[in-house]
Amino acid sequence: MIVVMKPGSTQVQIDRVIELVKEMGLREQVIVGTERTVVACLGDDRAKDKGRLEQAGGVDRVVPILASYKMASSEVKKDRTQIALGGTLGGVVGGTRVPVMAGPCSVESKGQIVDLAHAVKAAGAVALRGGAFKPRTSPYAFQGLAEEGLKYLAAAREATGLAIVTEVMSIEQIPAVVDYADVLQVGARNMQNFNLLAKLGQTRKPVLLKRGMSATLEEFLLAAEYILAGGNSQVMLCERGIRTFESDYVRNTLPLAIVPELHRRSHLPVVVDPSHGTGKSHLVPDMCRAAVACGADALILEVHDDPEHALTDGAQSLNVSQFAETMNSLKRIAAAVDREI
Ligand code: PEP
Ligand code: MN
Repeated sequence: MIVVMKPGSTQVQIDRVIELVKEMGLREQVIVGTERTVVACLGDDRAKDKGRLEQAGGVDRVVPILASYKMASSEVKKDRTQIALGGTLGGVVGGTRVPVMAGPCSVESKGQIVDLAHAVKAAGAVALRGGAFKPRTSPYAFQGLAEEGLKYLAAAREATGLAIVTEVMSIEQIPAVVDYADVLQVGARNMQNFNLLAKLGQTRKPVLLKRGMSATLEEFLLAAEYILAGGNSQVMLCERGIRTFESDYVRNTLPLAIVPELHRRSHLPVVVDPSHGTGKSHLVPDMCRAAVACGADALILEVHDDPEHALTDGAQSLNVSQFAETMNSLKRIAAAVDREI
């Protein structure tokens, strides 16, 4: 349930509500909205007596939250969550602008990542993506440059001001990734690594949570809930395509209807990844346009200087000029839906 405070309620009144919530054996989380403050009560509240909360000073009403994902639900927060990406270019996800995060699947060398950073920035990206820790299906495949790769990403930020988005695969990697990156990516394969999610809830860096390739929308939002419940309110939901019976013309199937549906159910911003969502570079520009048209709050894209020789995911990577052309065409789509790129 949530306790909706009256507009203009005082801090003393909010503190009293928090005290009552704790006395009930529940955990509180305060959400300060533009018009009023809400105190969310976390835990099993089914048998709890709500009367004392209803009578406390400054309380407008006590409302049950029907969704299983309490903190992620739009029932708890009406205004949309905006998340600053970091870096020095001012990218915000969840506002009118649709920021684009771009870069190679994997960081391959310092020269490569710094050059690509300059190139994607010139085309309009505000964040640089690139994996240093790579989740690979085969243990014999390139696993990423690990901490060395993180250092190269930091050098690319230094050179360009782009925010850095990179994957964290395990709890042990969190301190290093938090040190170097601006946005912590949770890969599709880790969407239900609940220990990892809970630990990321204790950090204060934005998390880009990718949807598991066989996760339902409810499971996706409950995964976000693990991070939110830990106290980290900066979660972006990223649709990156799911497994279906189709595996020939696409690597994954990109279900764009999830964008408006997530917006209906949650206040969290929604990012679309048409690179993994299709697996084919020739499909990426059209799916970028479709994603922006249906309300995506940001895009994350794989861009490589030489896709044919990329160490990972070359088939779905745009080259720099294809990326620049795509960015250009997105301006008109964004304008048509009252957004900007
Ligand atoms: C990636 O972003 O390169 C990646 C591995 O993504 P996903 O977890 O969506 O497969
Ligand atoms: Mn990839």
